[in-house]
Amino acid sequence: MLDLDFHPTGHHFLQIPGPSPVPDRILRAMSLPTIDHRGPEFGVLGLKVLKGIKAIFKTQHPVVIYPASGTGAWEAALANTMSPGDHVLMYESGHFASLWQKMATRLGLTTEFLAWQGKDDALPNAPSWRRGVQADLIEERLKKDTEHRIKAVCVVHNETSTGVTSDIAAVREVIDAAKHPALLMVDTISGLASADYRHDDWGVDVSISGSQKGLMLPPGMSFNALSPRALEVMKTAKLPRAFWAWDEIVEMNTTGYWPYTPNTNLLYGLSEALDMLEAEGLDNVLARHQRWAAGVRAGVEAWGLTIQCADPGVYSPVLTGVIVPDGVDADAVRRLIYERFDMSLGTGLGKVKGRMFRIGHLGFSNDLTLLGTMAGCEMGLKLAGIKLAGSGVQASMDYFASHTSQVVLKKAA
Ligand SMILES: *Cc1c(COP(=O)(O)O)cnc(C)c1O
Repeated sequence: MLDLDFHPTGHHFLQIPGPSPVPDRILRAMSLPTIDHRGPEFGVLGLKVLKGIKAIFKTQHPVVIYPASGTGAWEAALANTMSPGDHVLMYESGHFASLWQKMATRLGLTTEFLAWQGKDDALPNAPSWRRGVQADLIEERLKKDTEHRIKAVCVVHNETSTGVTSDIAAVREVIDAAKHPALLMVDTISGLASADYRHDDWGVDVSISGSQKGLMLPPGMSFNALSPRALEVMKTAKLPRAFWAWDEIVEMNTTGYWPYTPNTNLLYGLSEALDMLEAEGLDNVLARHQRWAAGVRAGVEAWGLTIQCADPGVYSPVLTGVIVPDGVDADAVRRLIYERFDMSLGTGLGKVKGRMFRIGHLGFSNDLTLLGTMAGCEMGLKLAGIKLAGSGVQASMDYFASHTSQVVLKKAA
């Protein structure tokens, strides 16, 4: 039972793939006094963060910031572009894709849910959801839709329930190859600022993200990055929308203000996060995540356990899903680790509940916190009676010691 008088010392190990640990520097910035959201100071802050966040999405076009969790930004993307009964093609990459599909249905859209149909011969009992989006399935479906009834293709960039990424550029390519006018909408809630993401280059119409993952902020803020085409489609889209409506927000944002009270202190945090990402350089941030992910995977492989992602080409740099041996309850192992070592790991969600757990390696972390994470996992797995092939901690140490981080120096402005 949870003892509320239990006060562990040191930092809790928050190794879930979001919310990720918030840097002290951001917490301090957020502790500044709340100011008048119609005053002159606020406009300066507003313009700064609205400009800065565009660089993170790699877009020249407007980014809308909502005082809402990522789920709100999912709804905003659909409500601004779709009409009742519209047909949307979605891809079942994992639990988050499934939640988005459920939401689209609740909004009165007709959803079609594609999924990988193959079998894992090497691991017939392994849980599903082990691969990224198969763009050829989307192409095949779009080519059959000669009347262009499909209005949007919706995919998840970094599936946080599994640790599998998807090739978004490939999805844009097949939409173009099919000469299909459907909008491309991408959930990069856990991908942004940790995994390579390019809103403009990849021709995404609406990108959806949130504050509590790669951006290292607390939960409560989310984003829609738009394309000119999405803004055009909005004008004739008929789903009811008021709070989520892009038009008024984009209009007022041109002066750094919002039509309602935005979450001022989270915007202080965003301003600080943008400064931190800018100073490090986004390329360095992405390389750092790739290196951490490789170090953690080396550890999982040394344990002799299977990584949830079955395709090395699309391993997530943000988190690693670890499948536990048949007959073991992954949540019991997580609970043991929490109680004994004060570390939170991600639970298996939906179809993979109990079959796997997730190690978050994103945002405000370093080699040694990740080694502590691996040590907590290794001790917990052994205490749970799981026979490990070898020491994952040793393998992760070897990886980090032998792979120095490659810092990309920024060109002088
Ligand atoms: C976290 C997450 C969500 C849900 O965001 P909330 O902030 O919990 O509403 C949706 N999609 C993905 C891929 C996520 O990682």
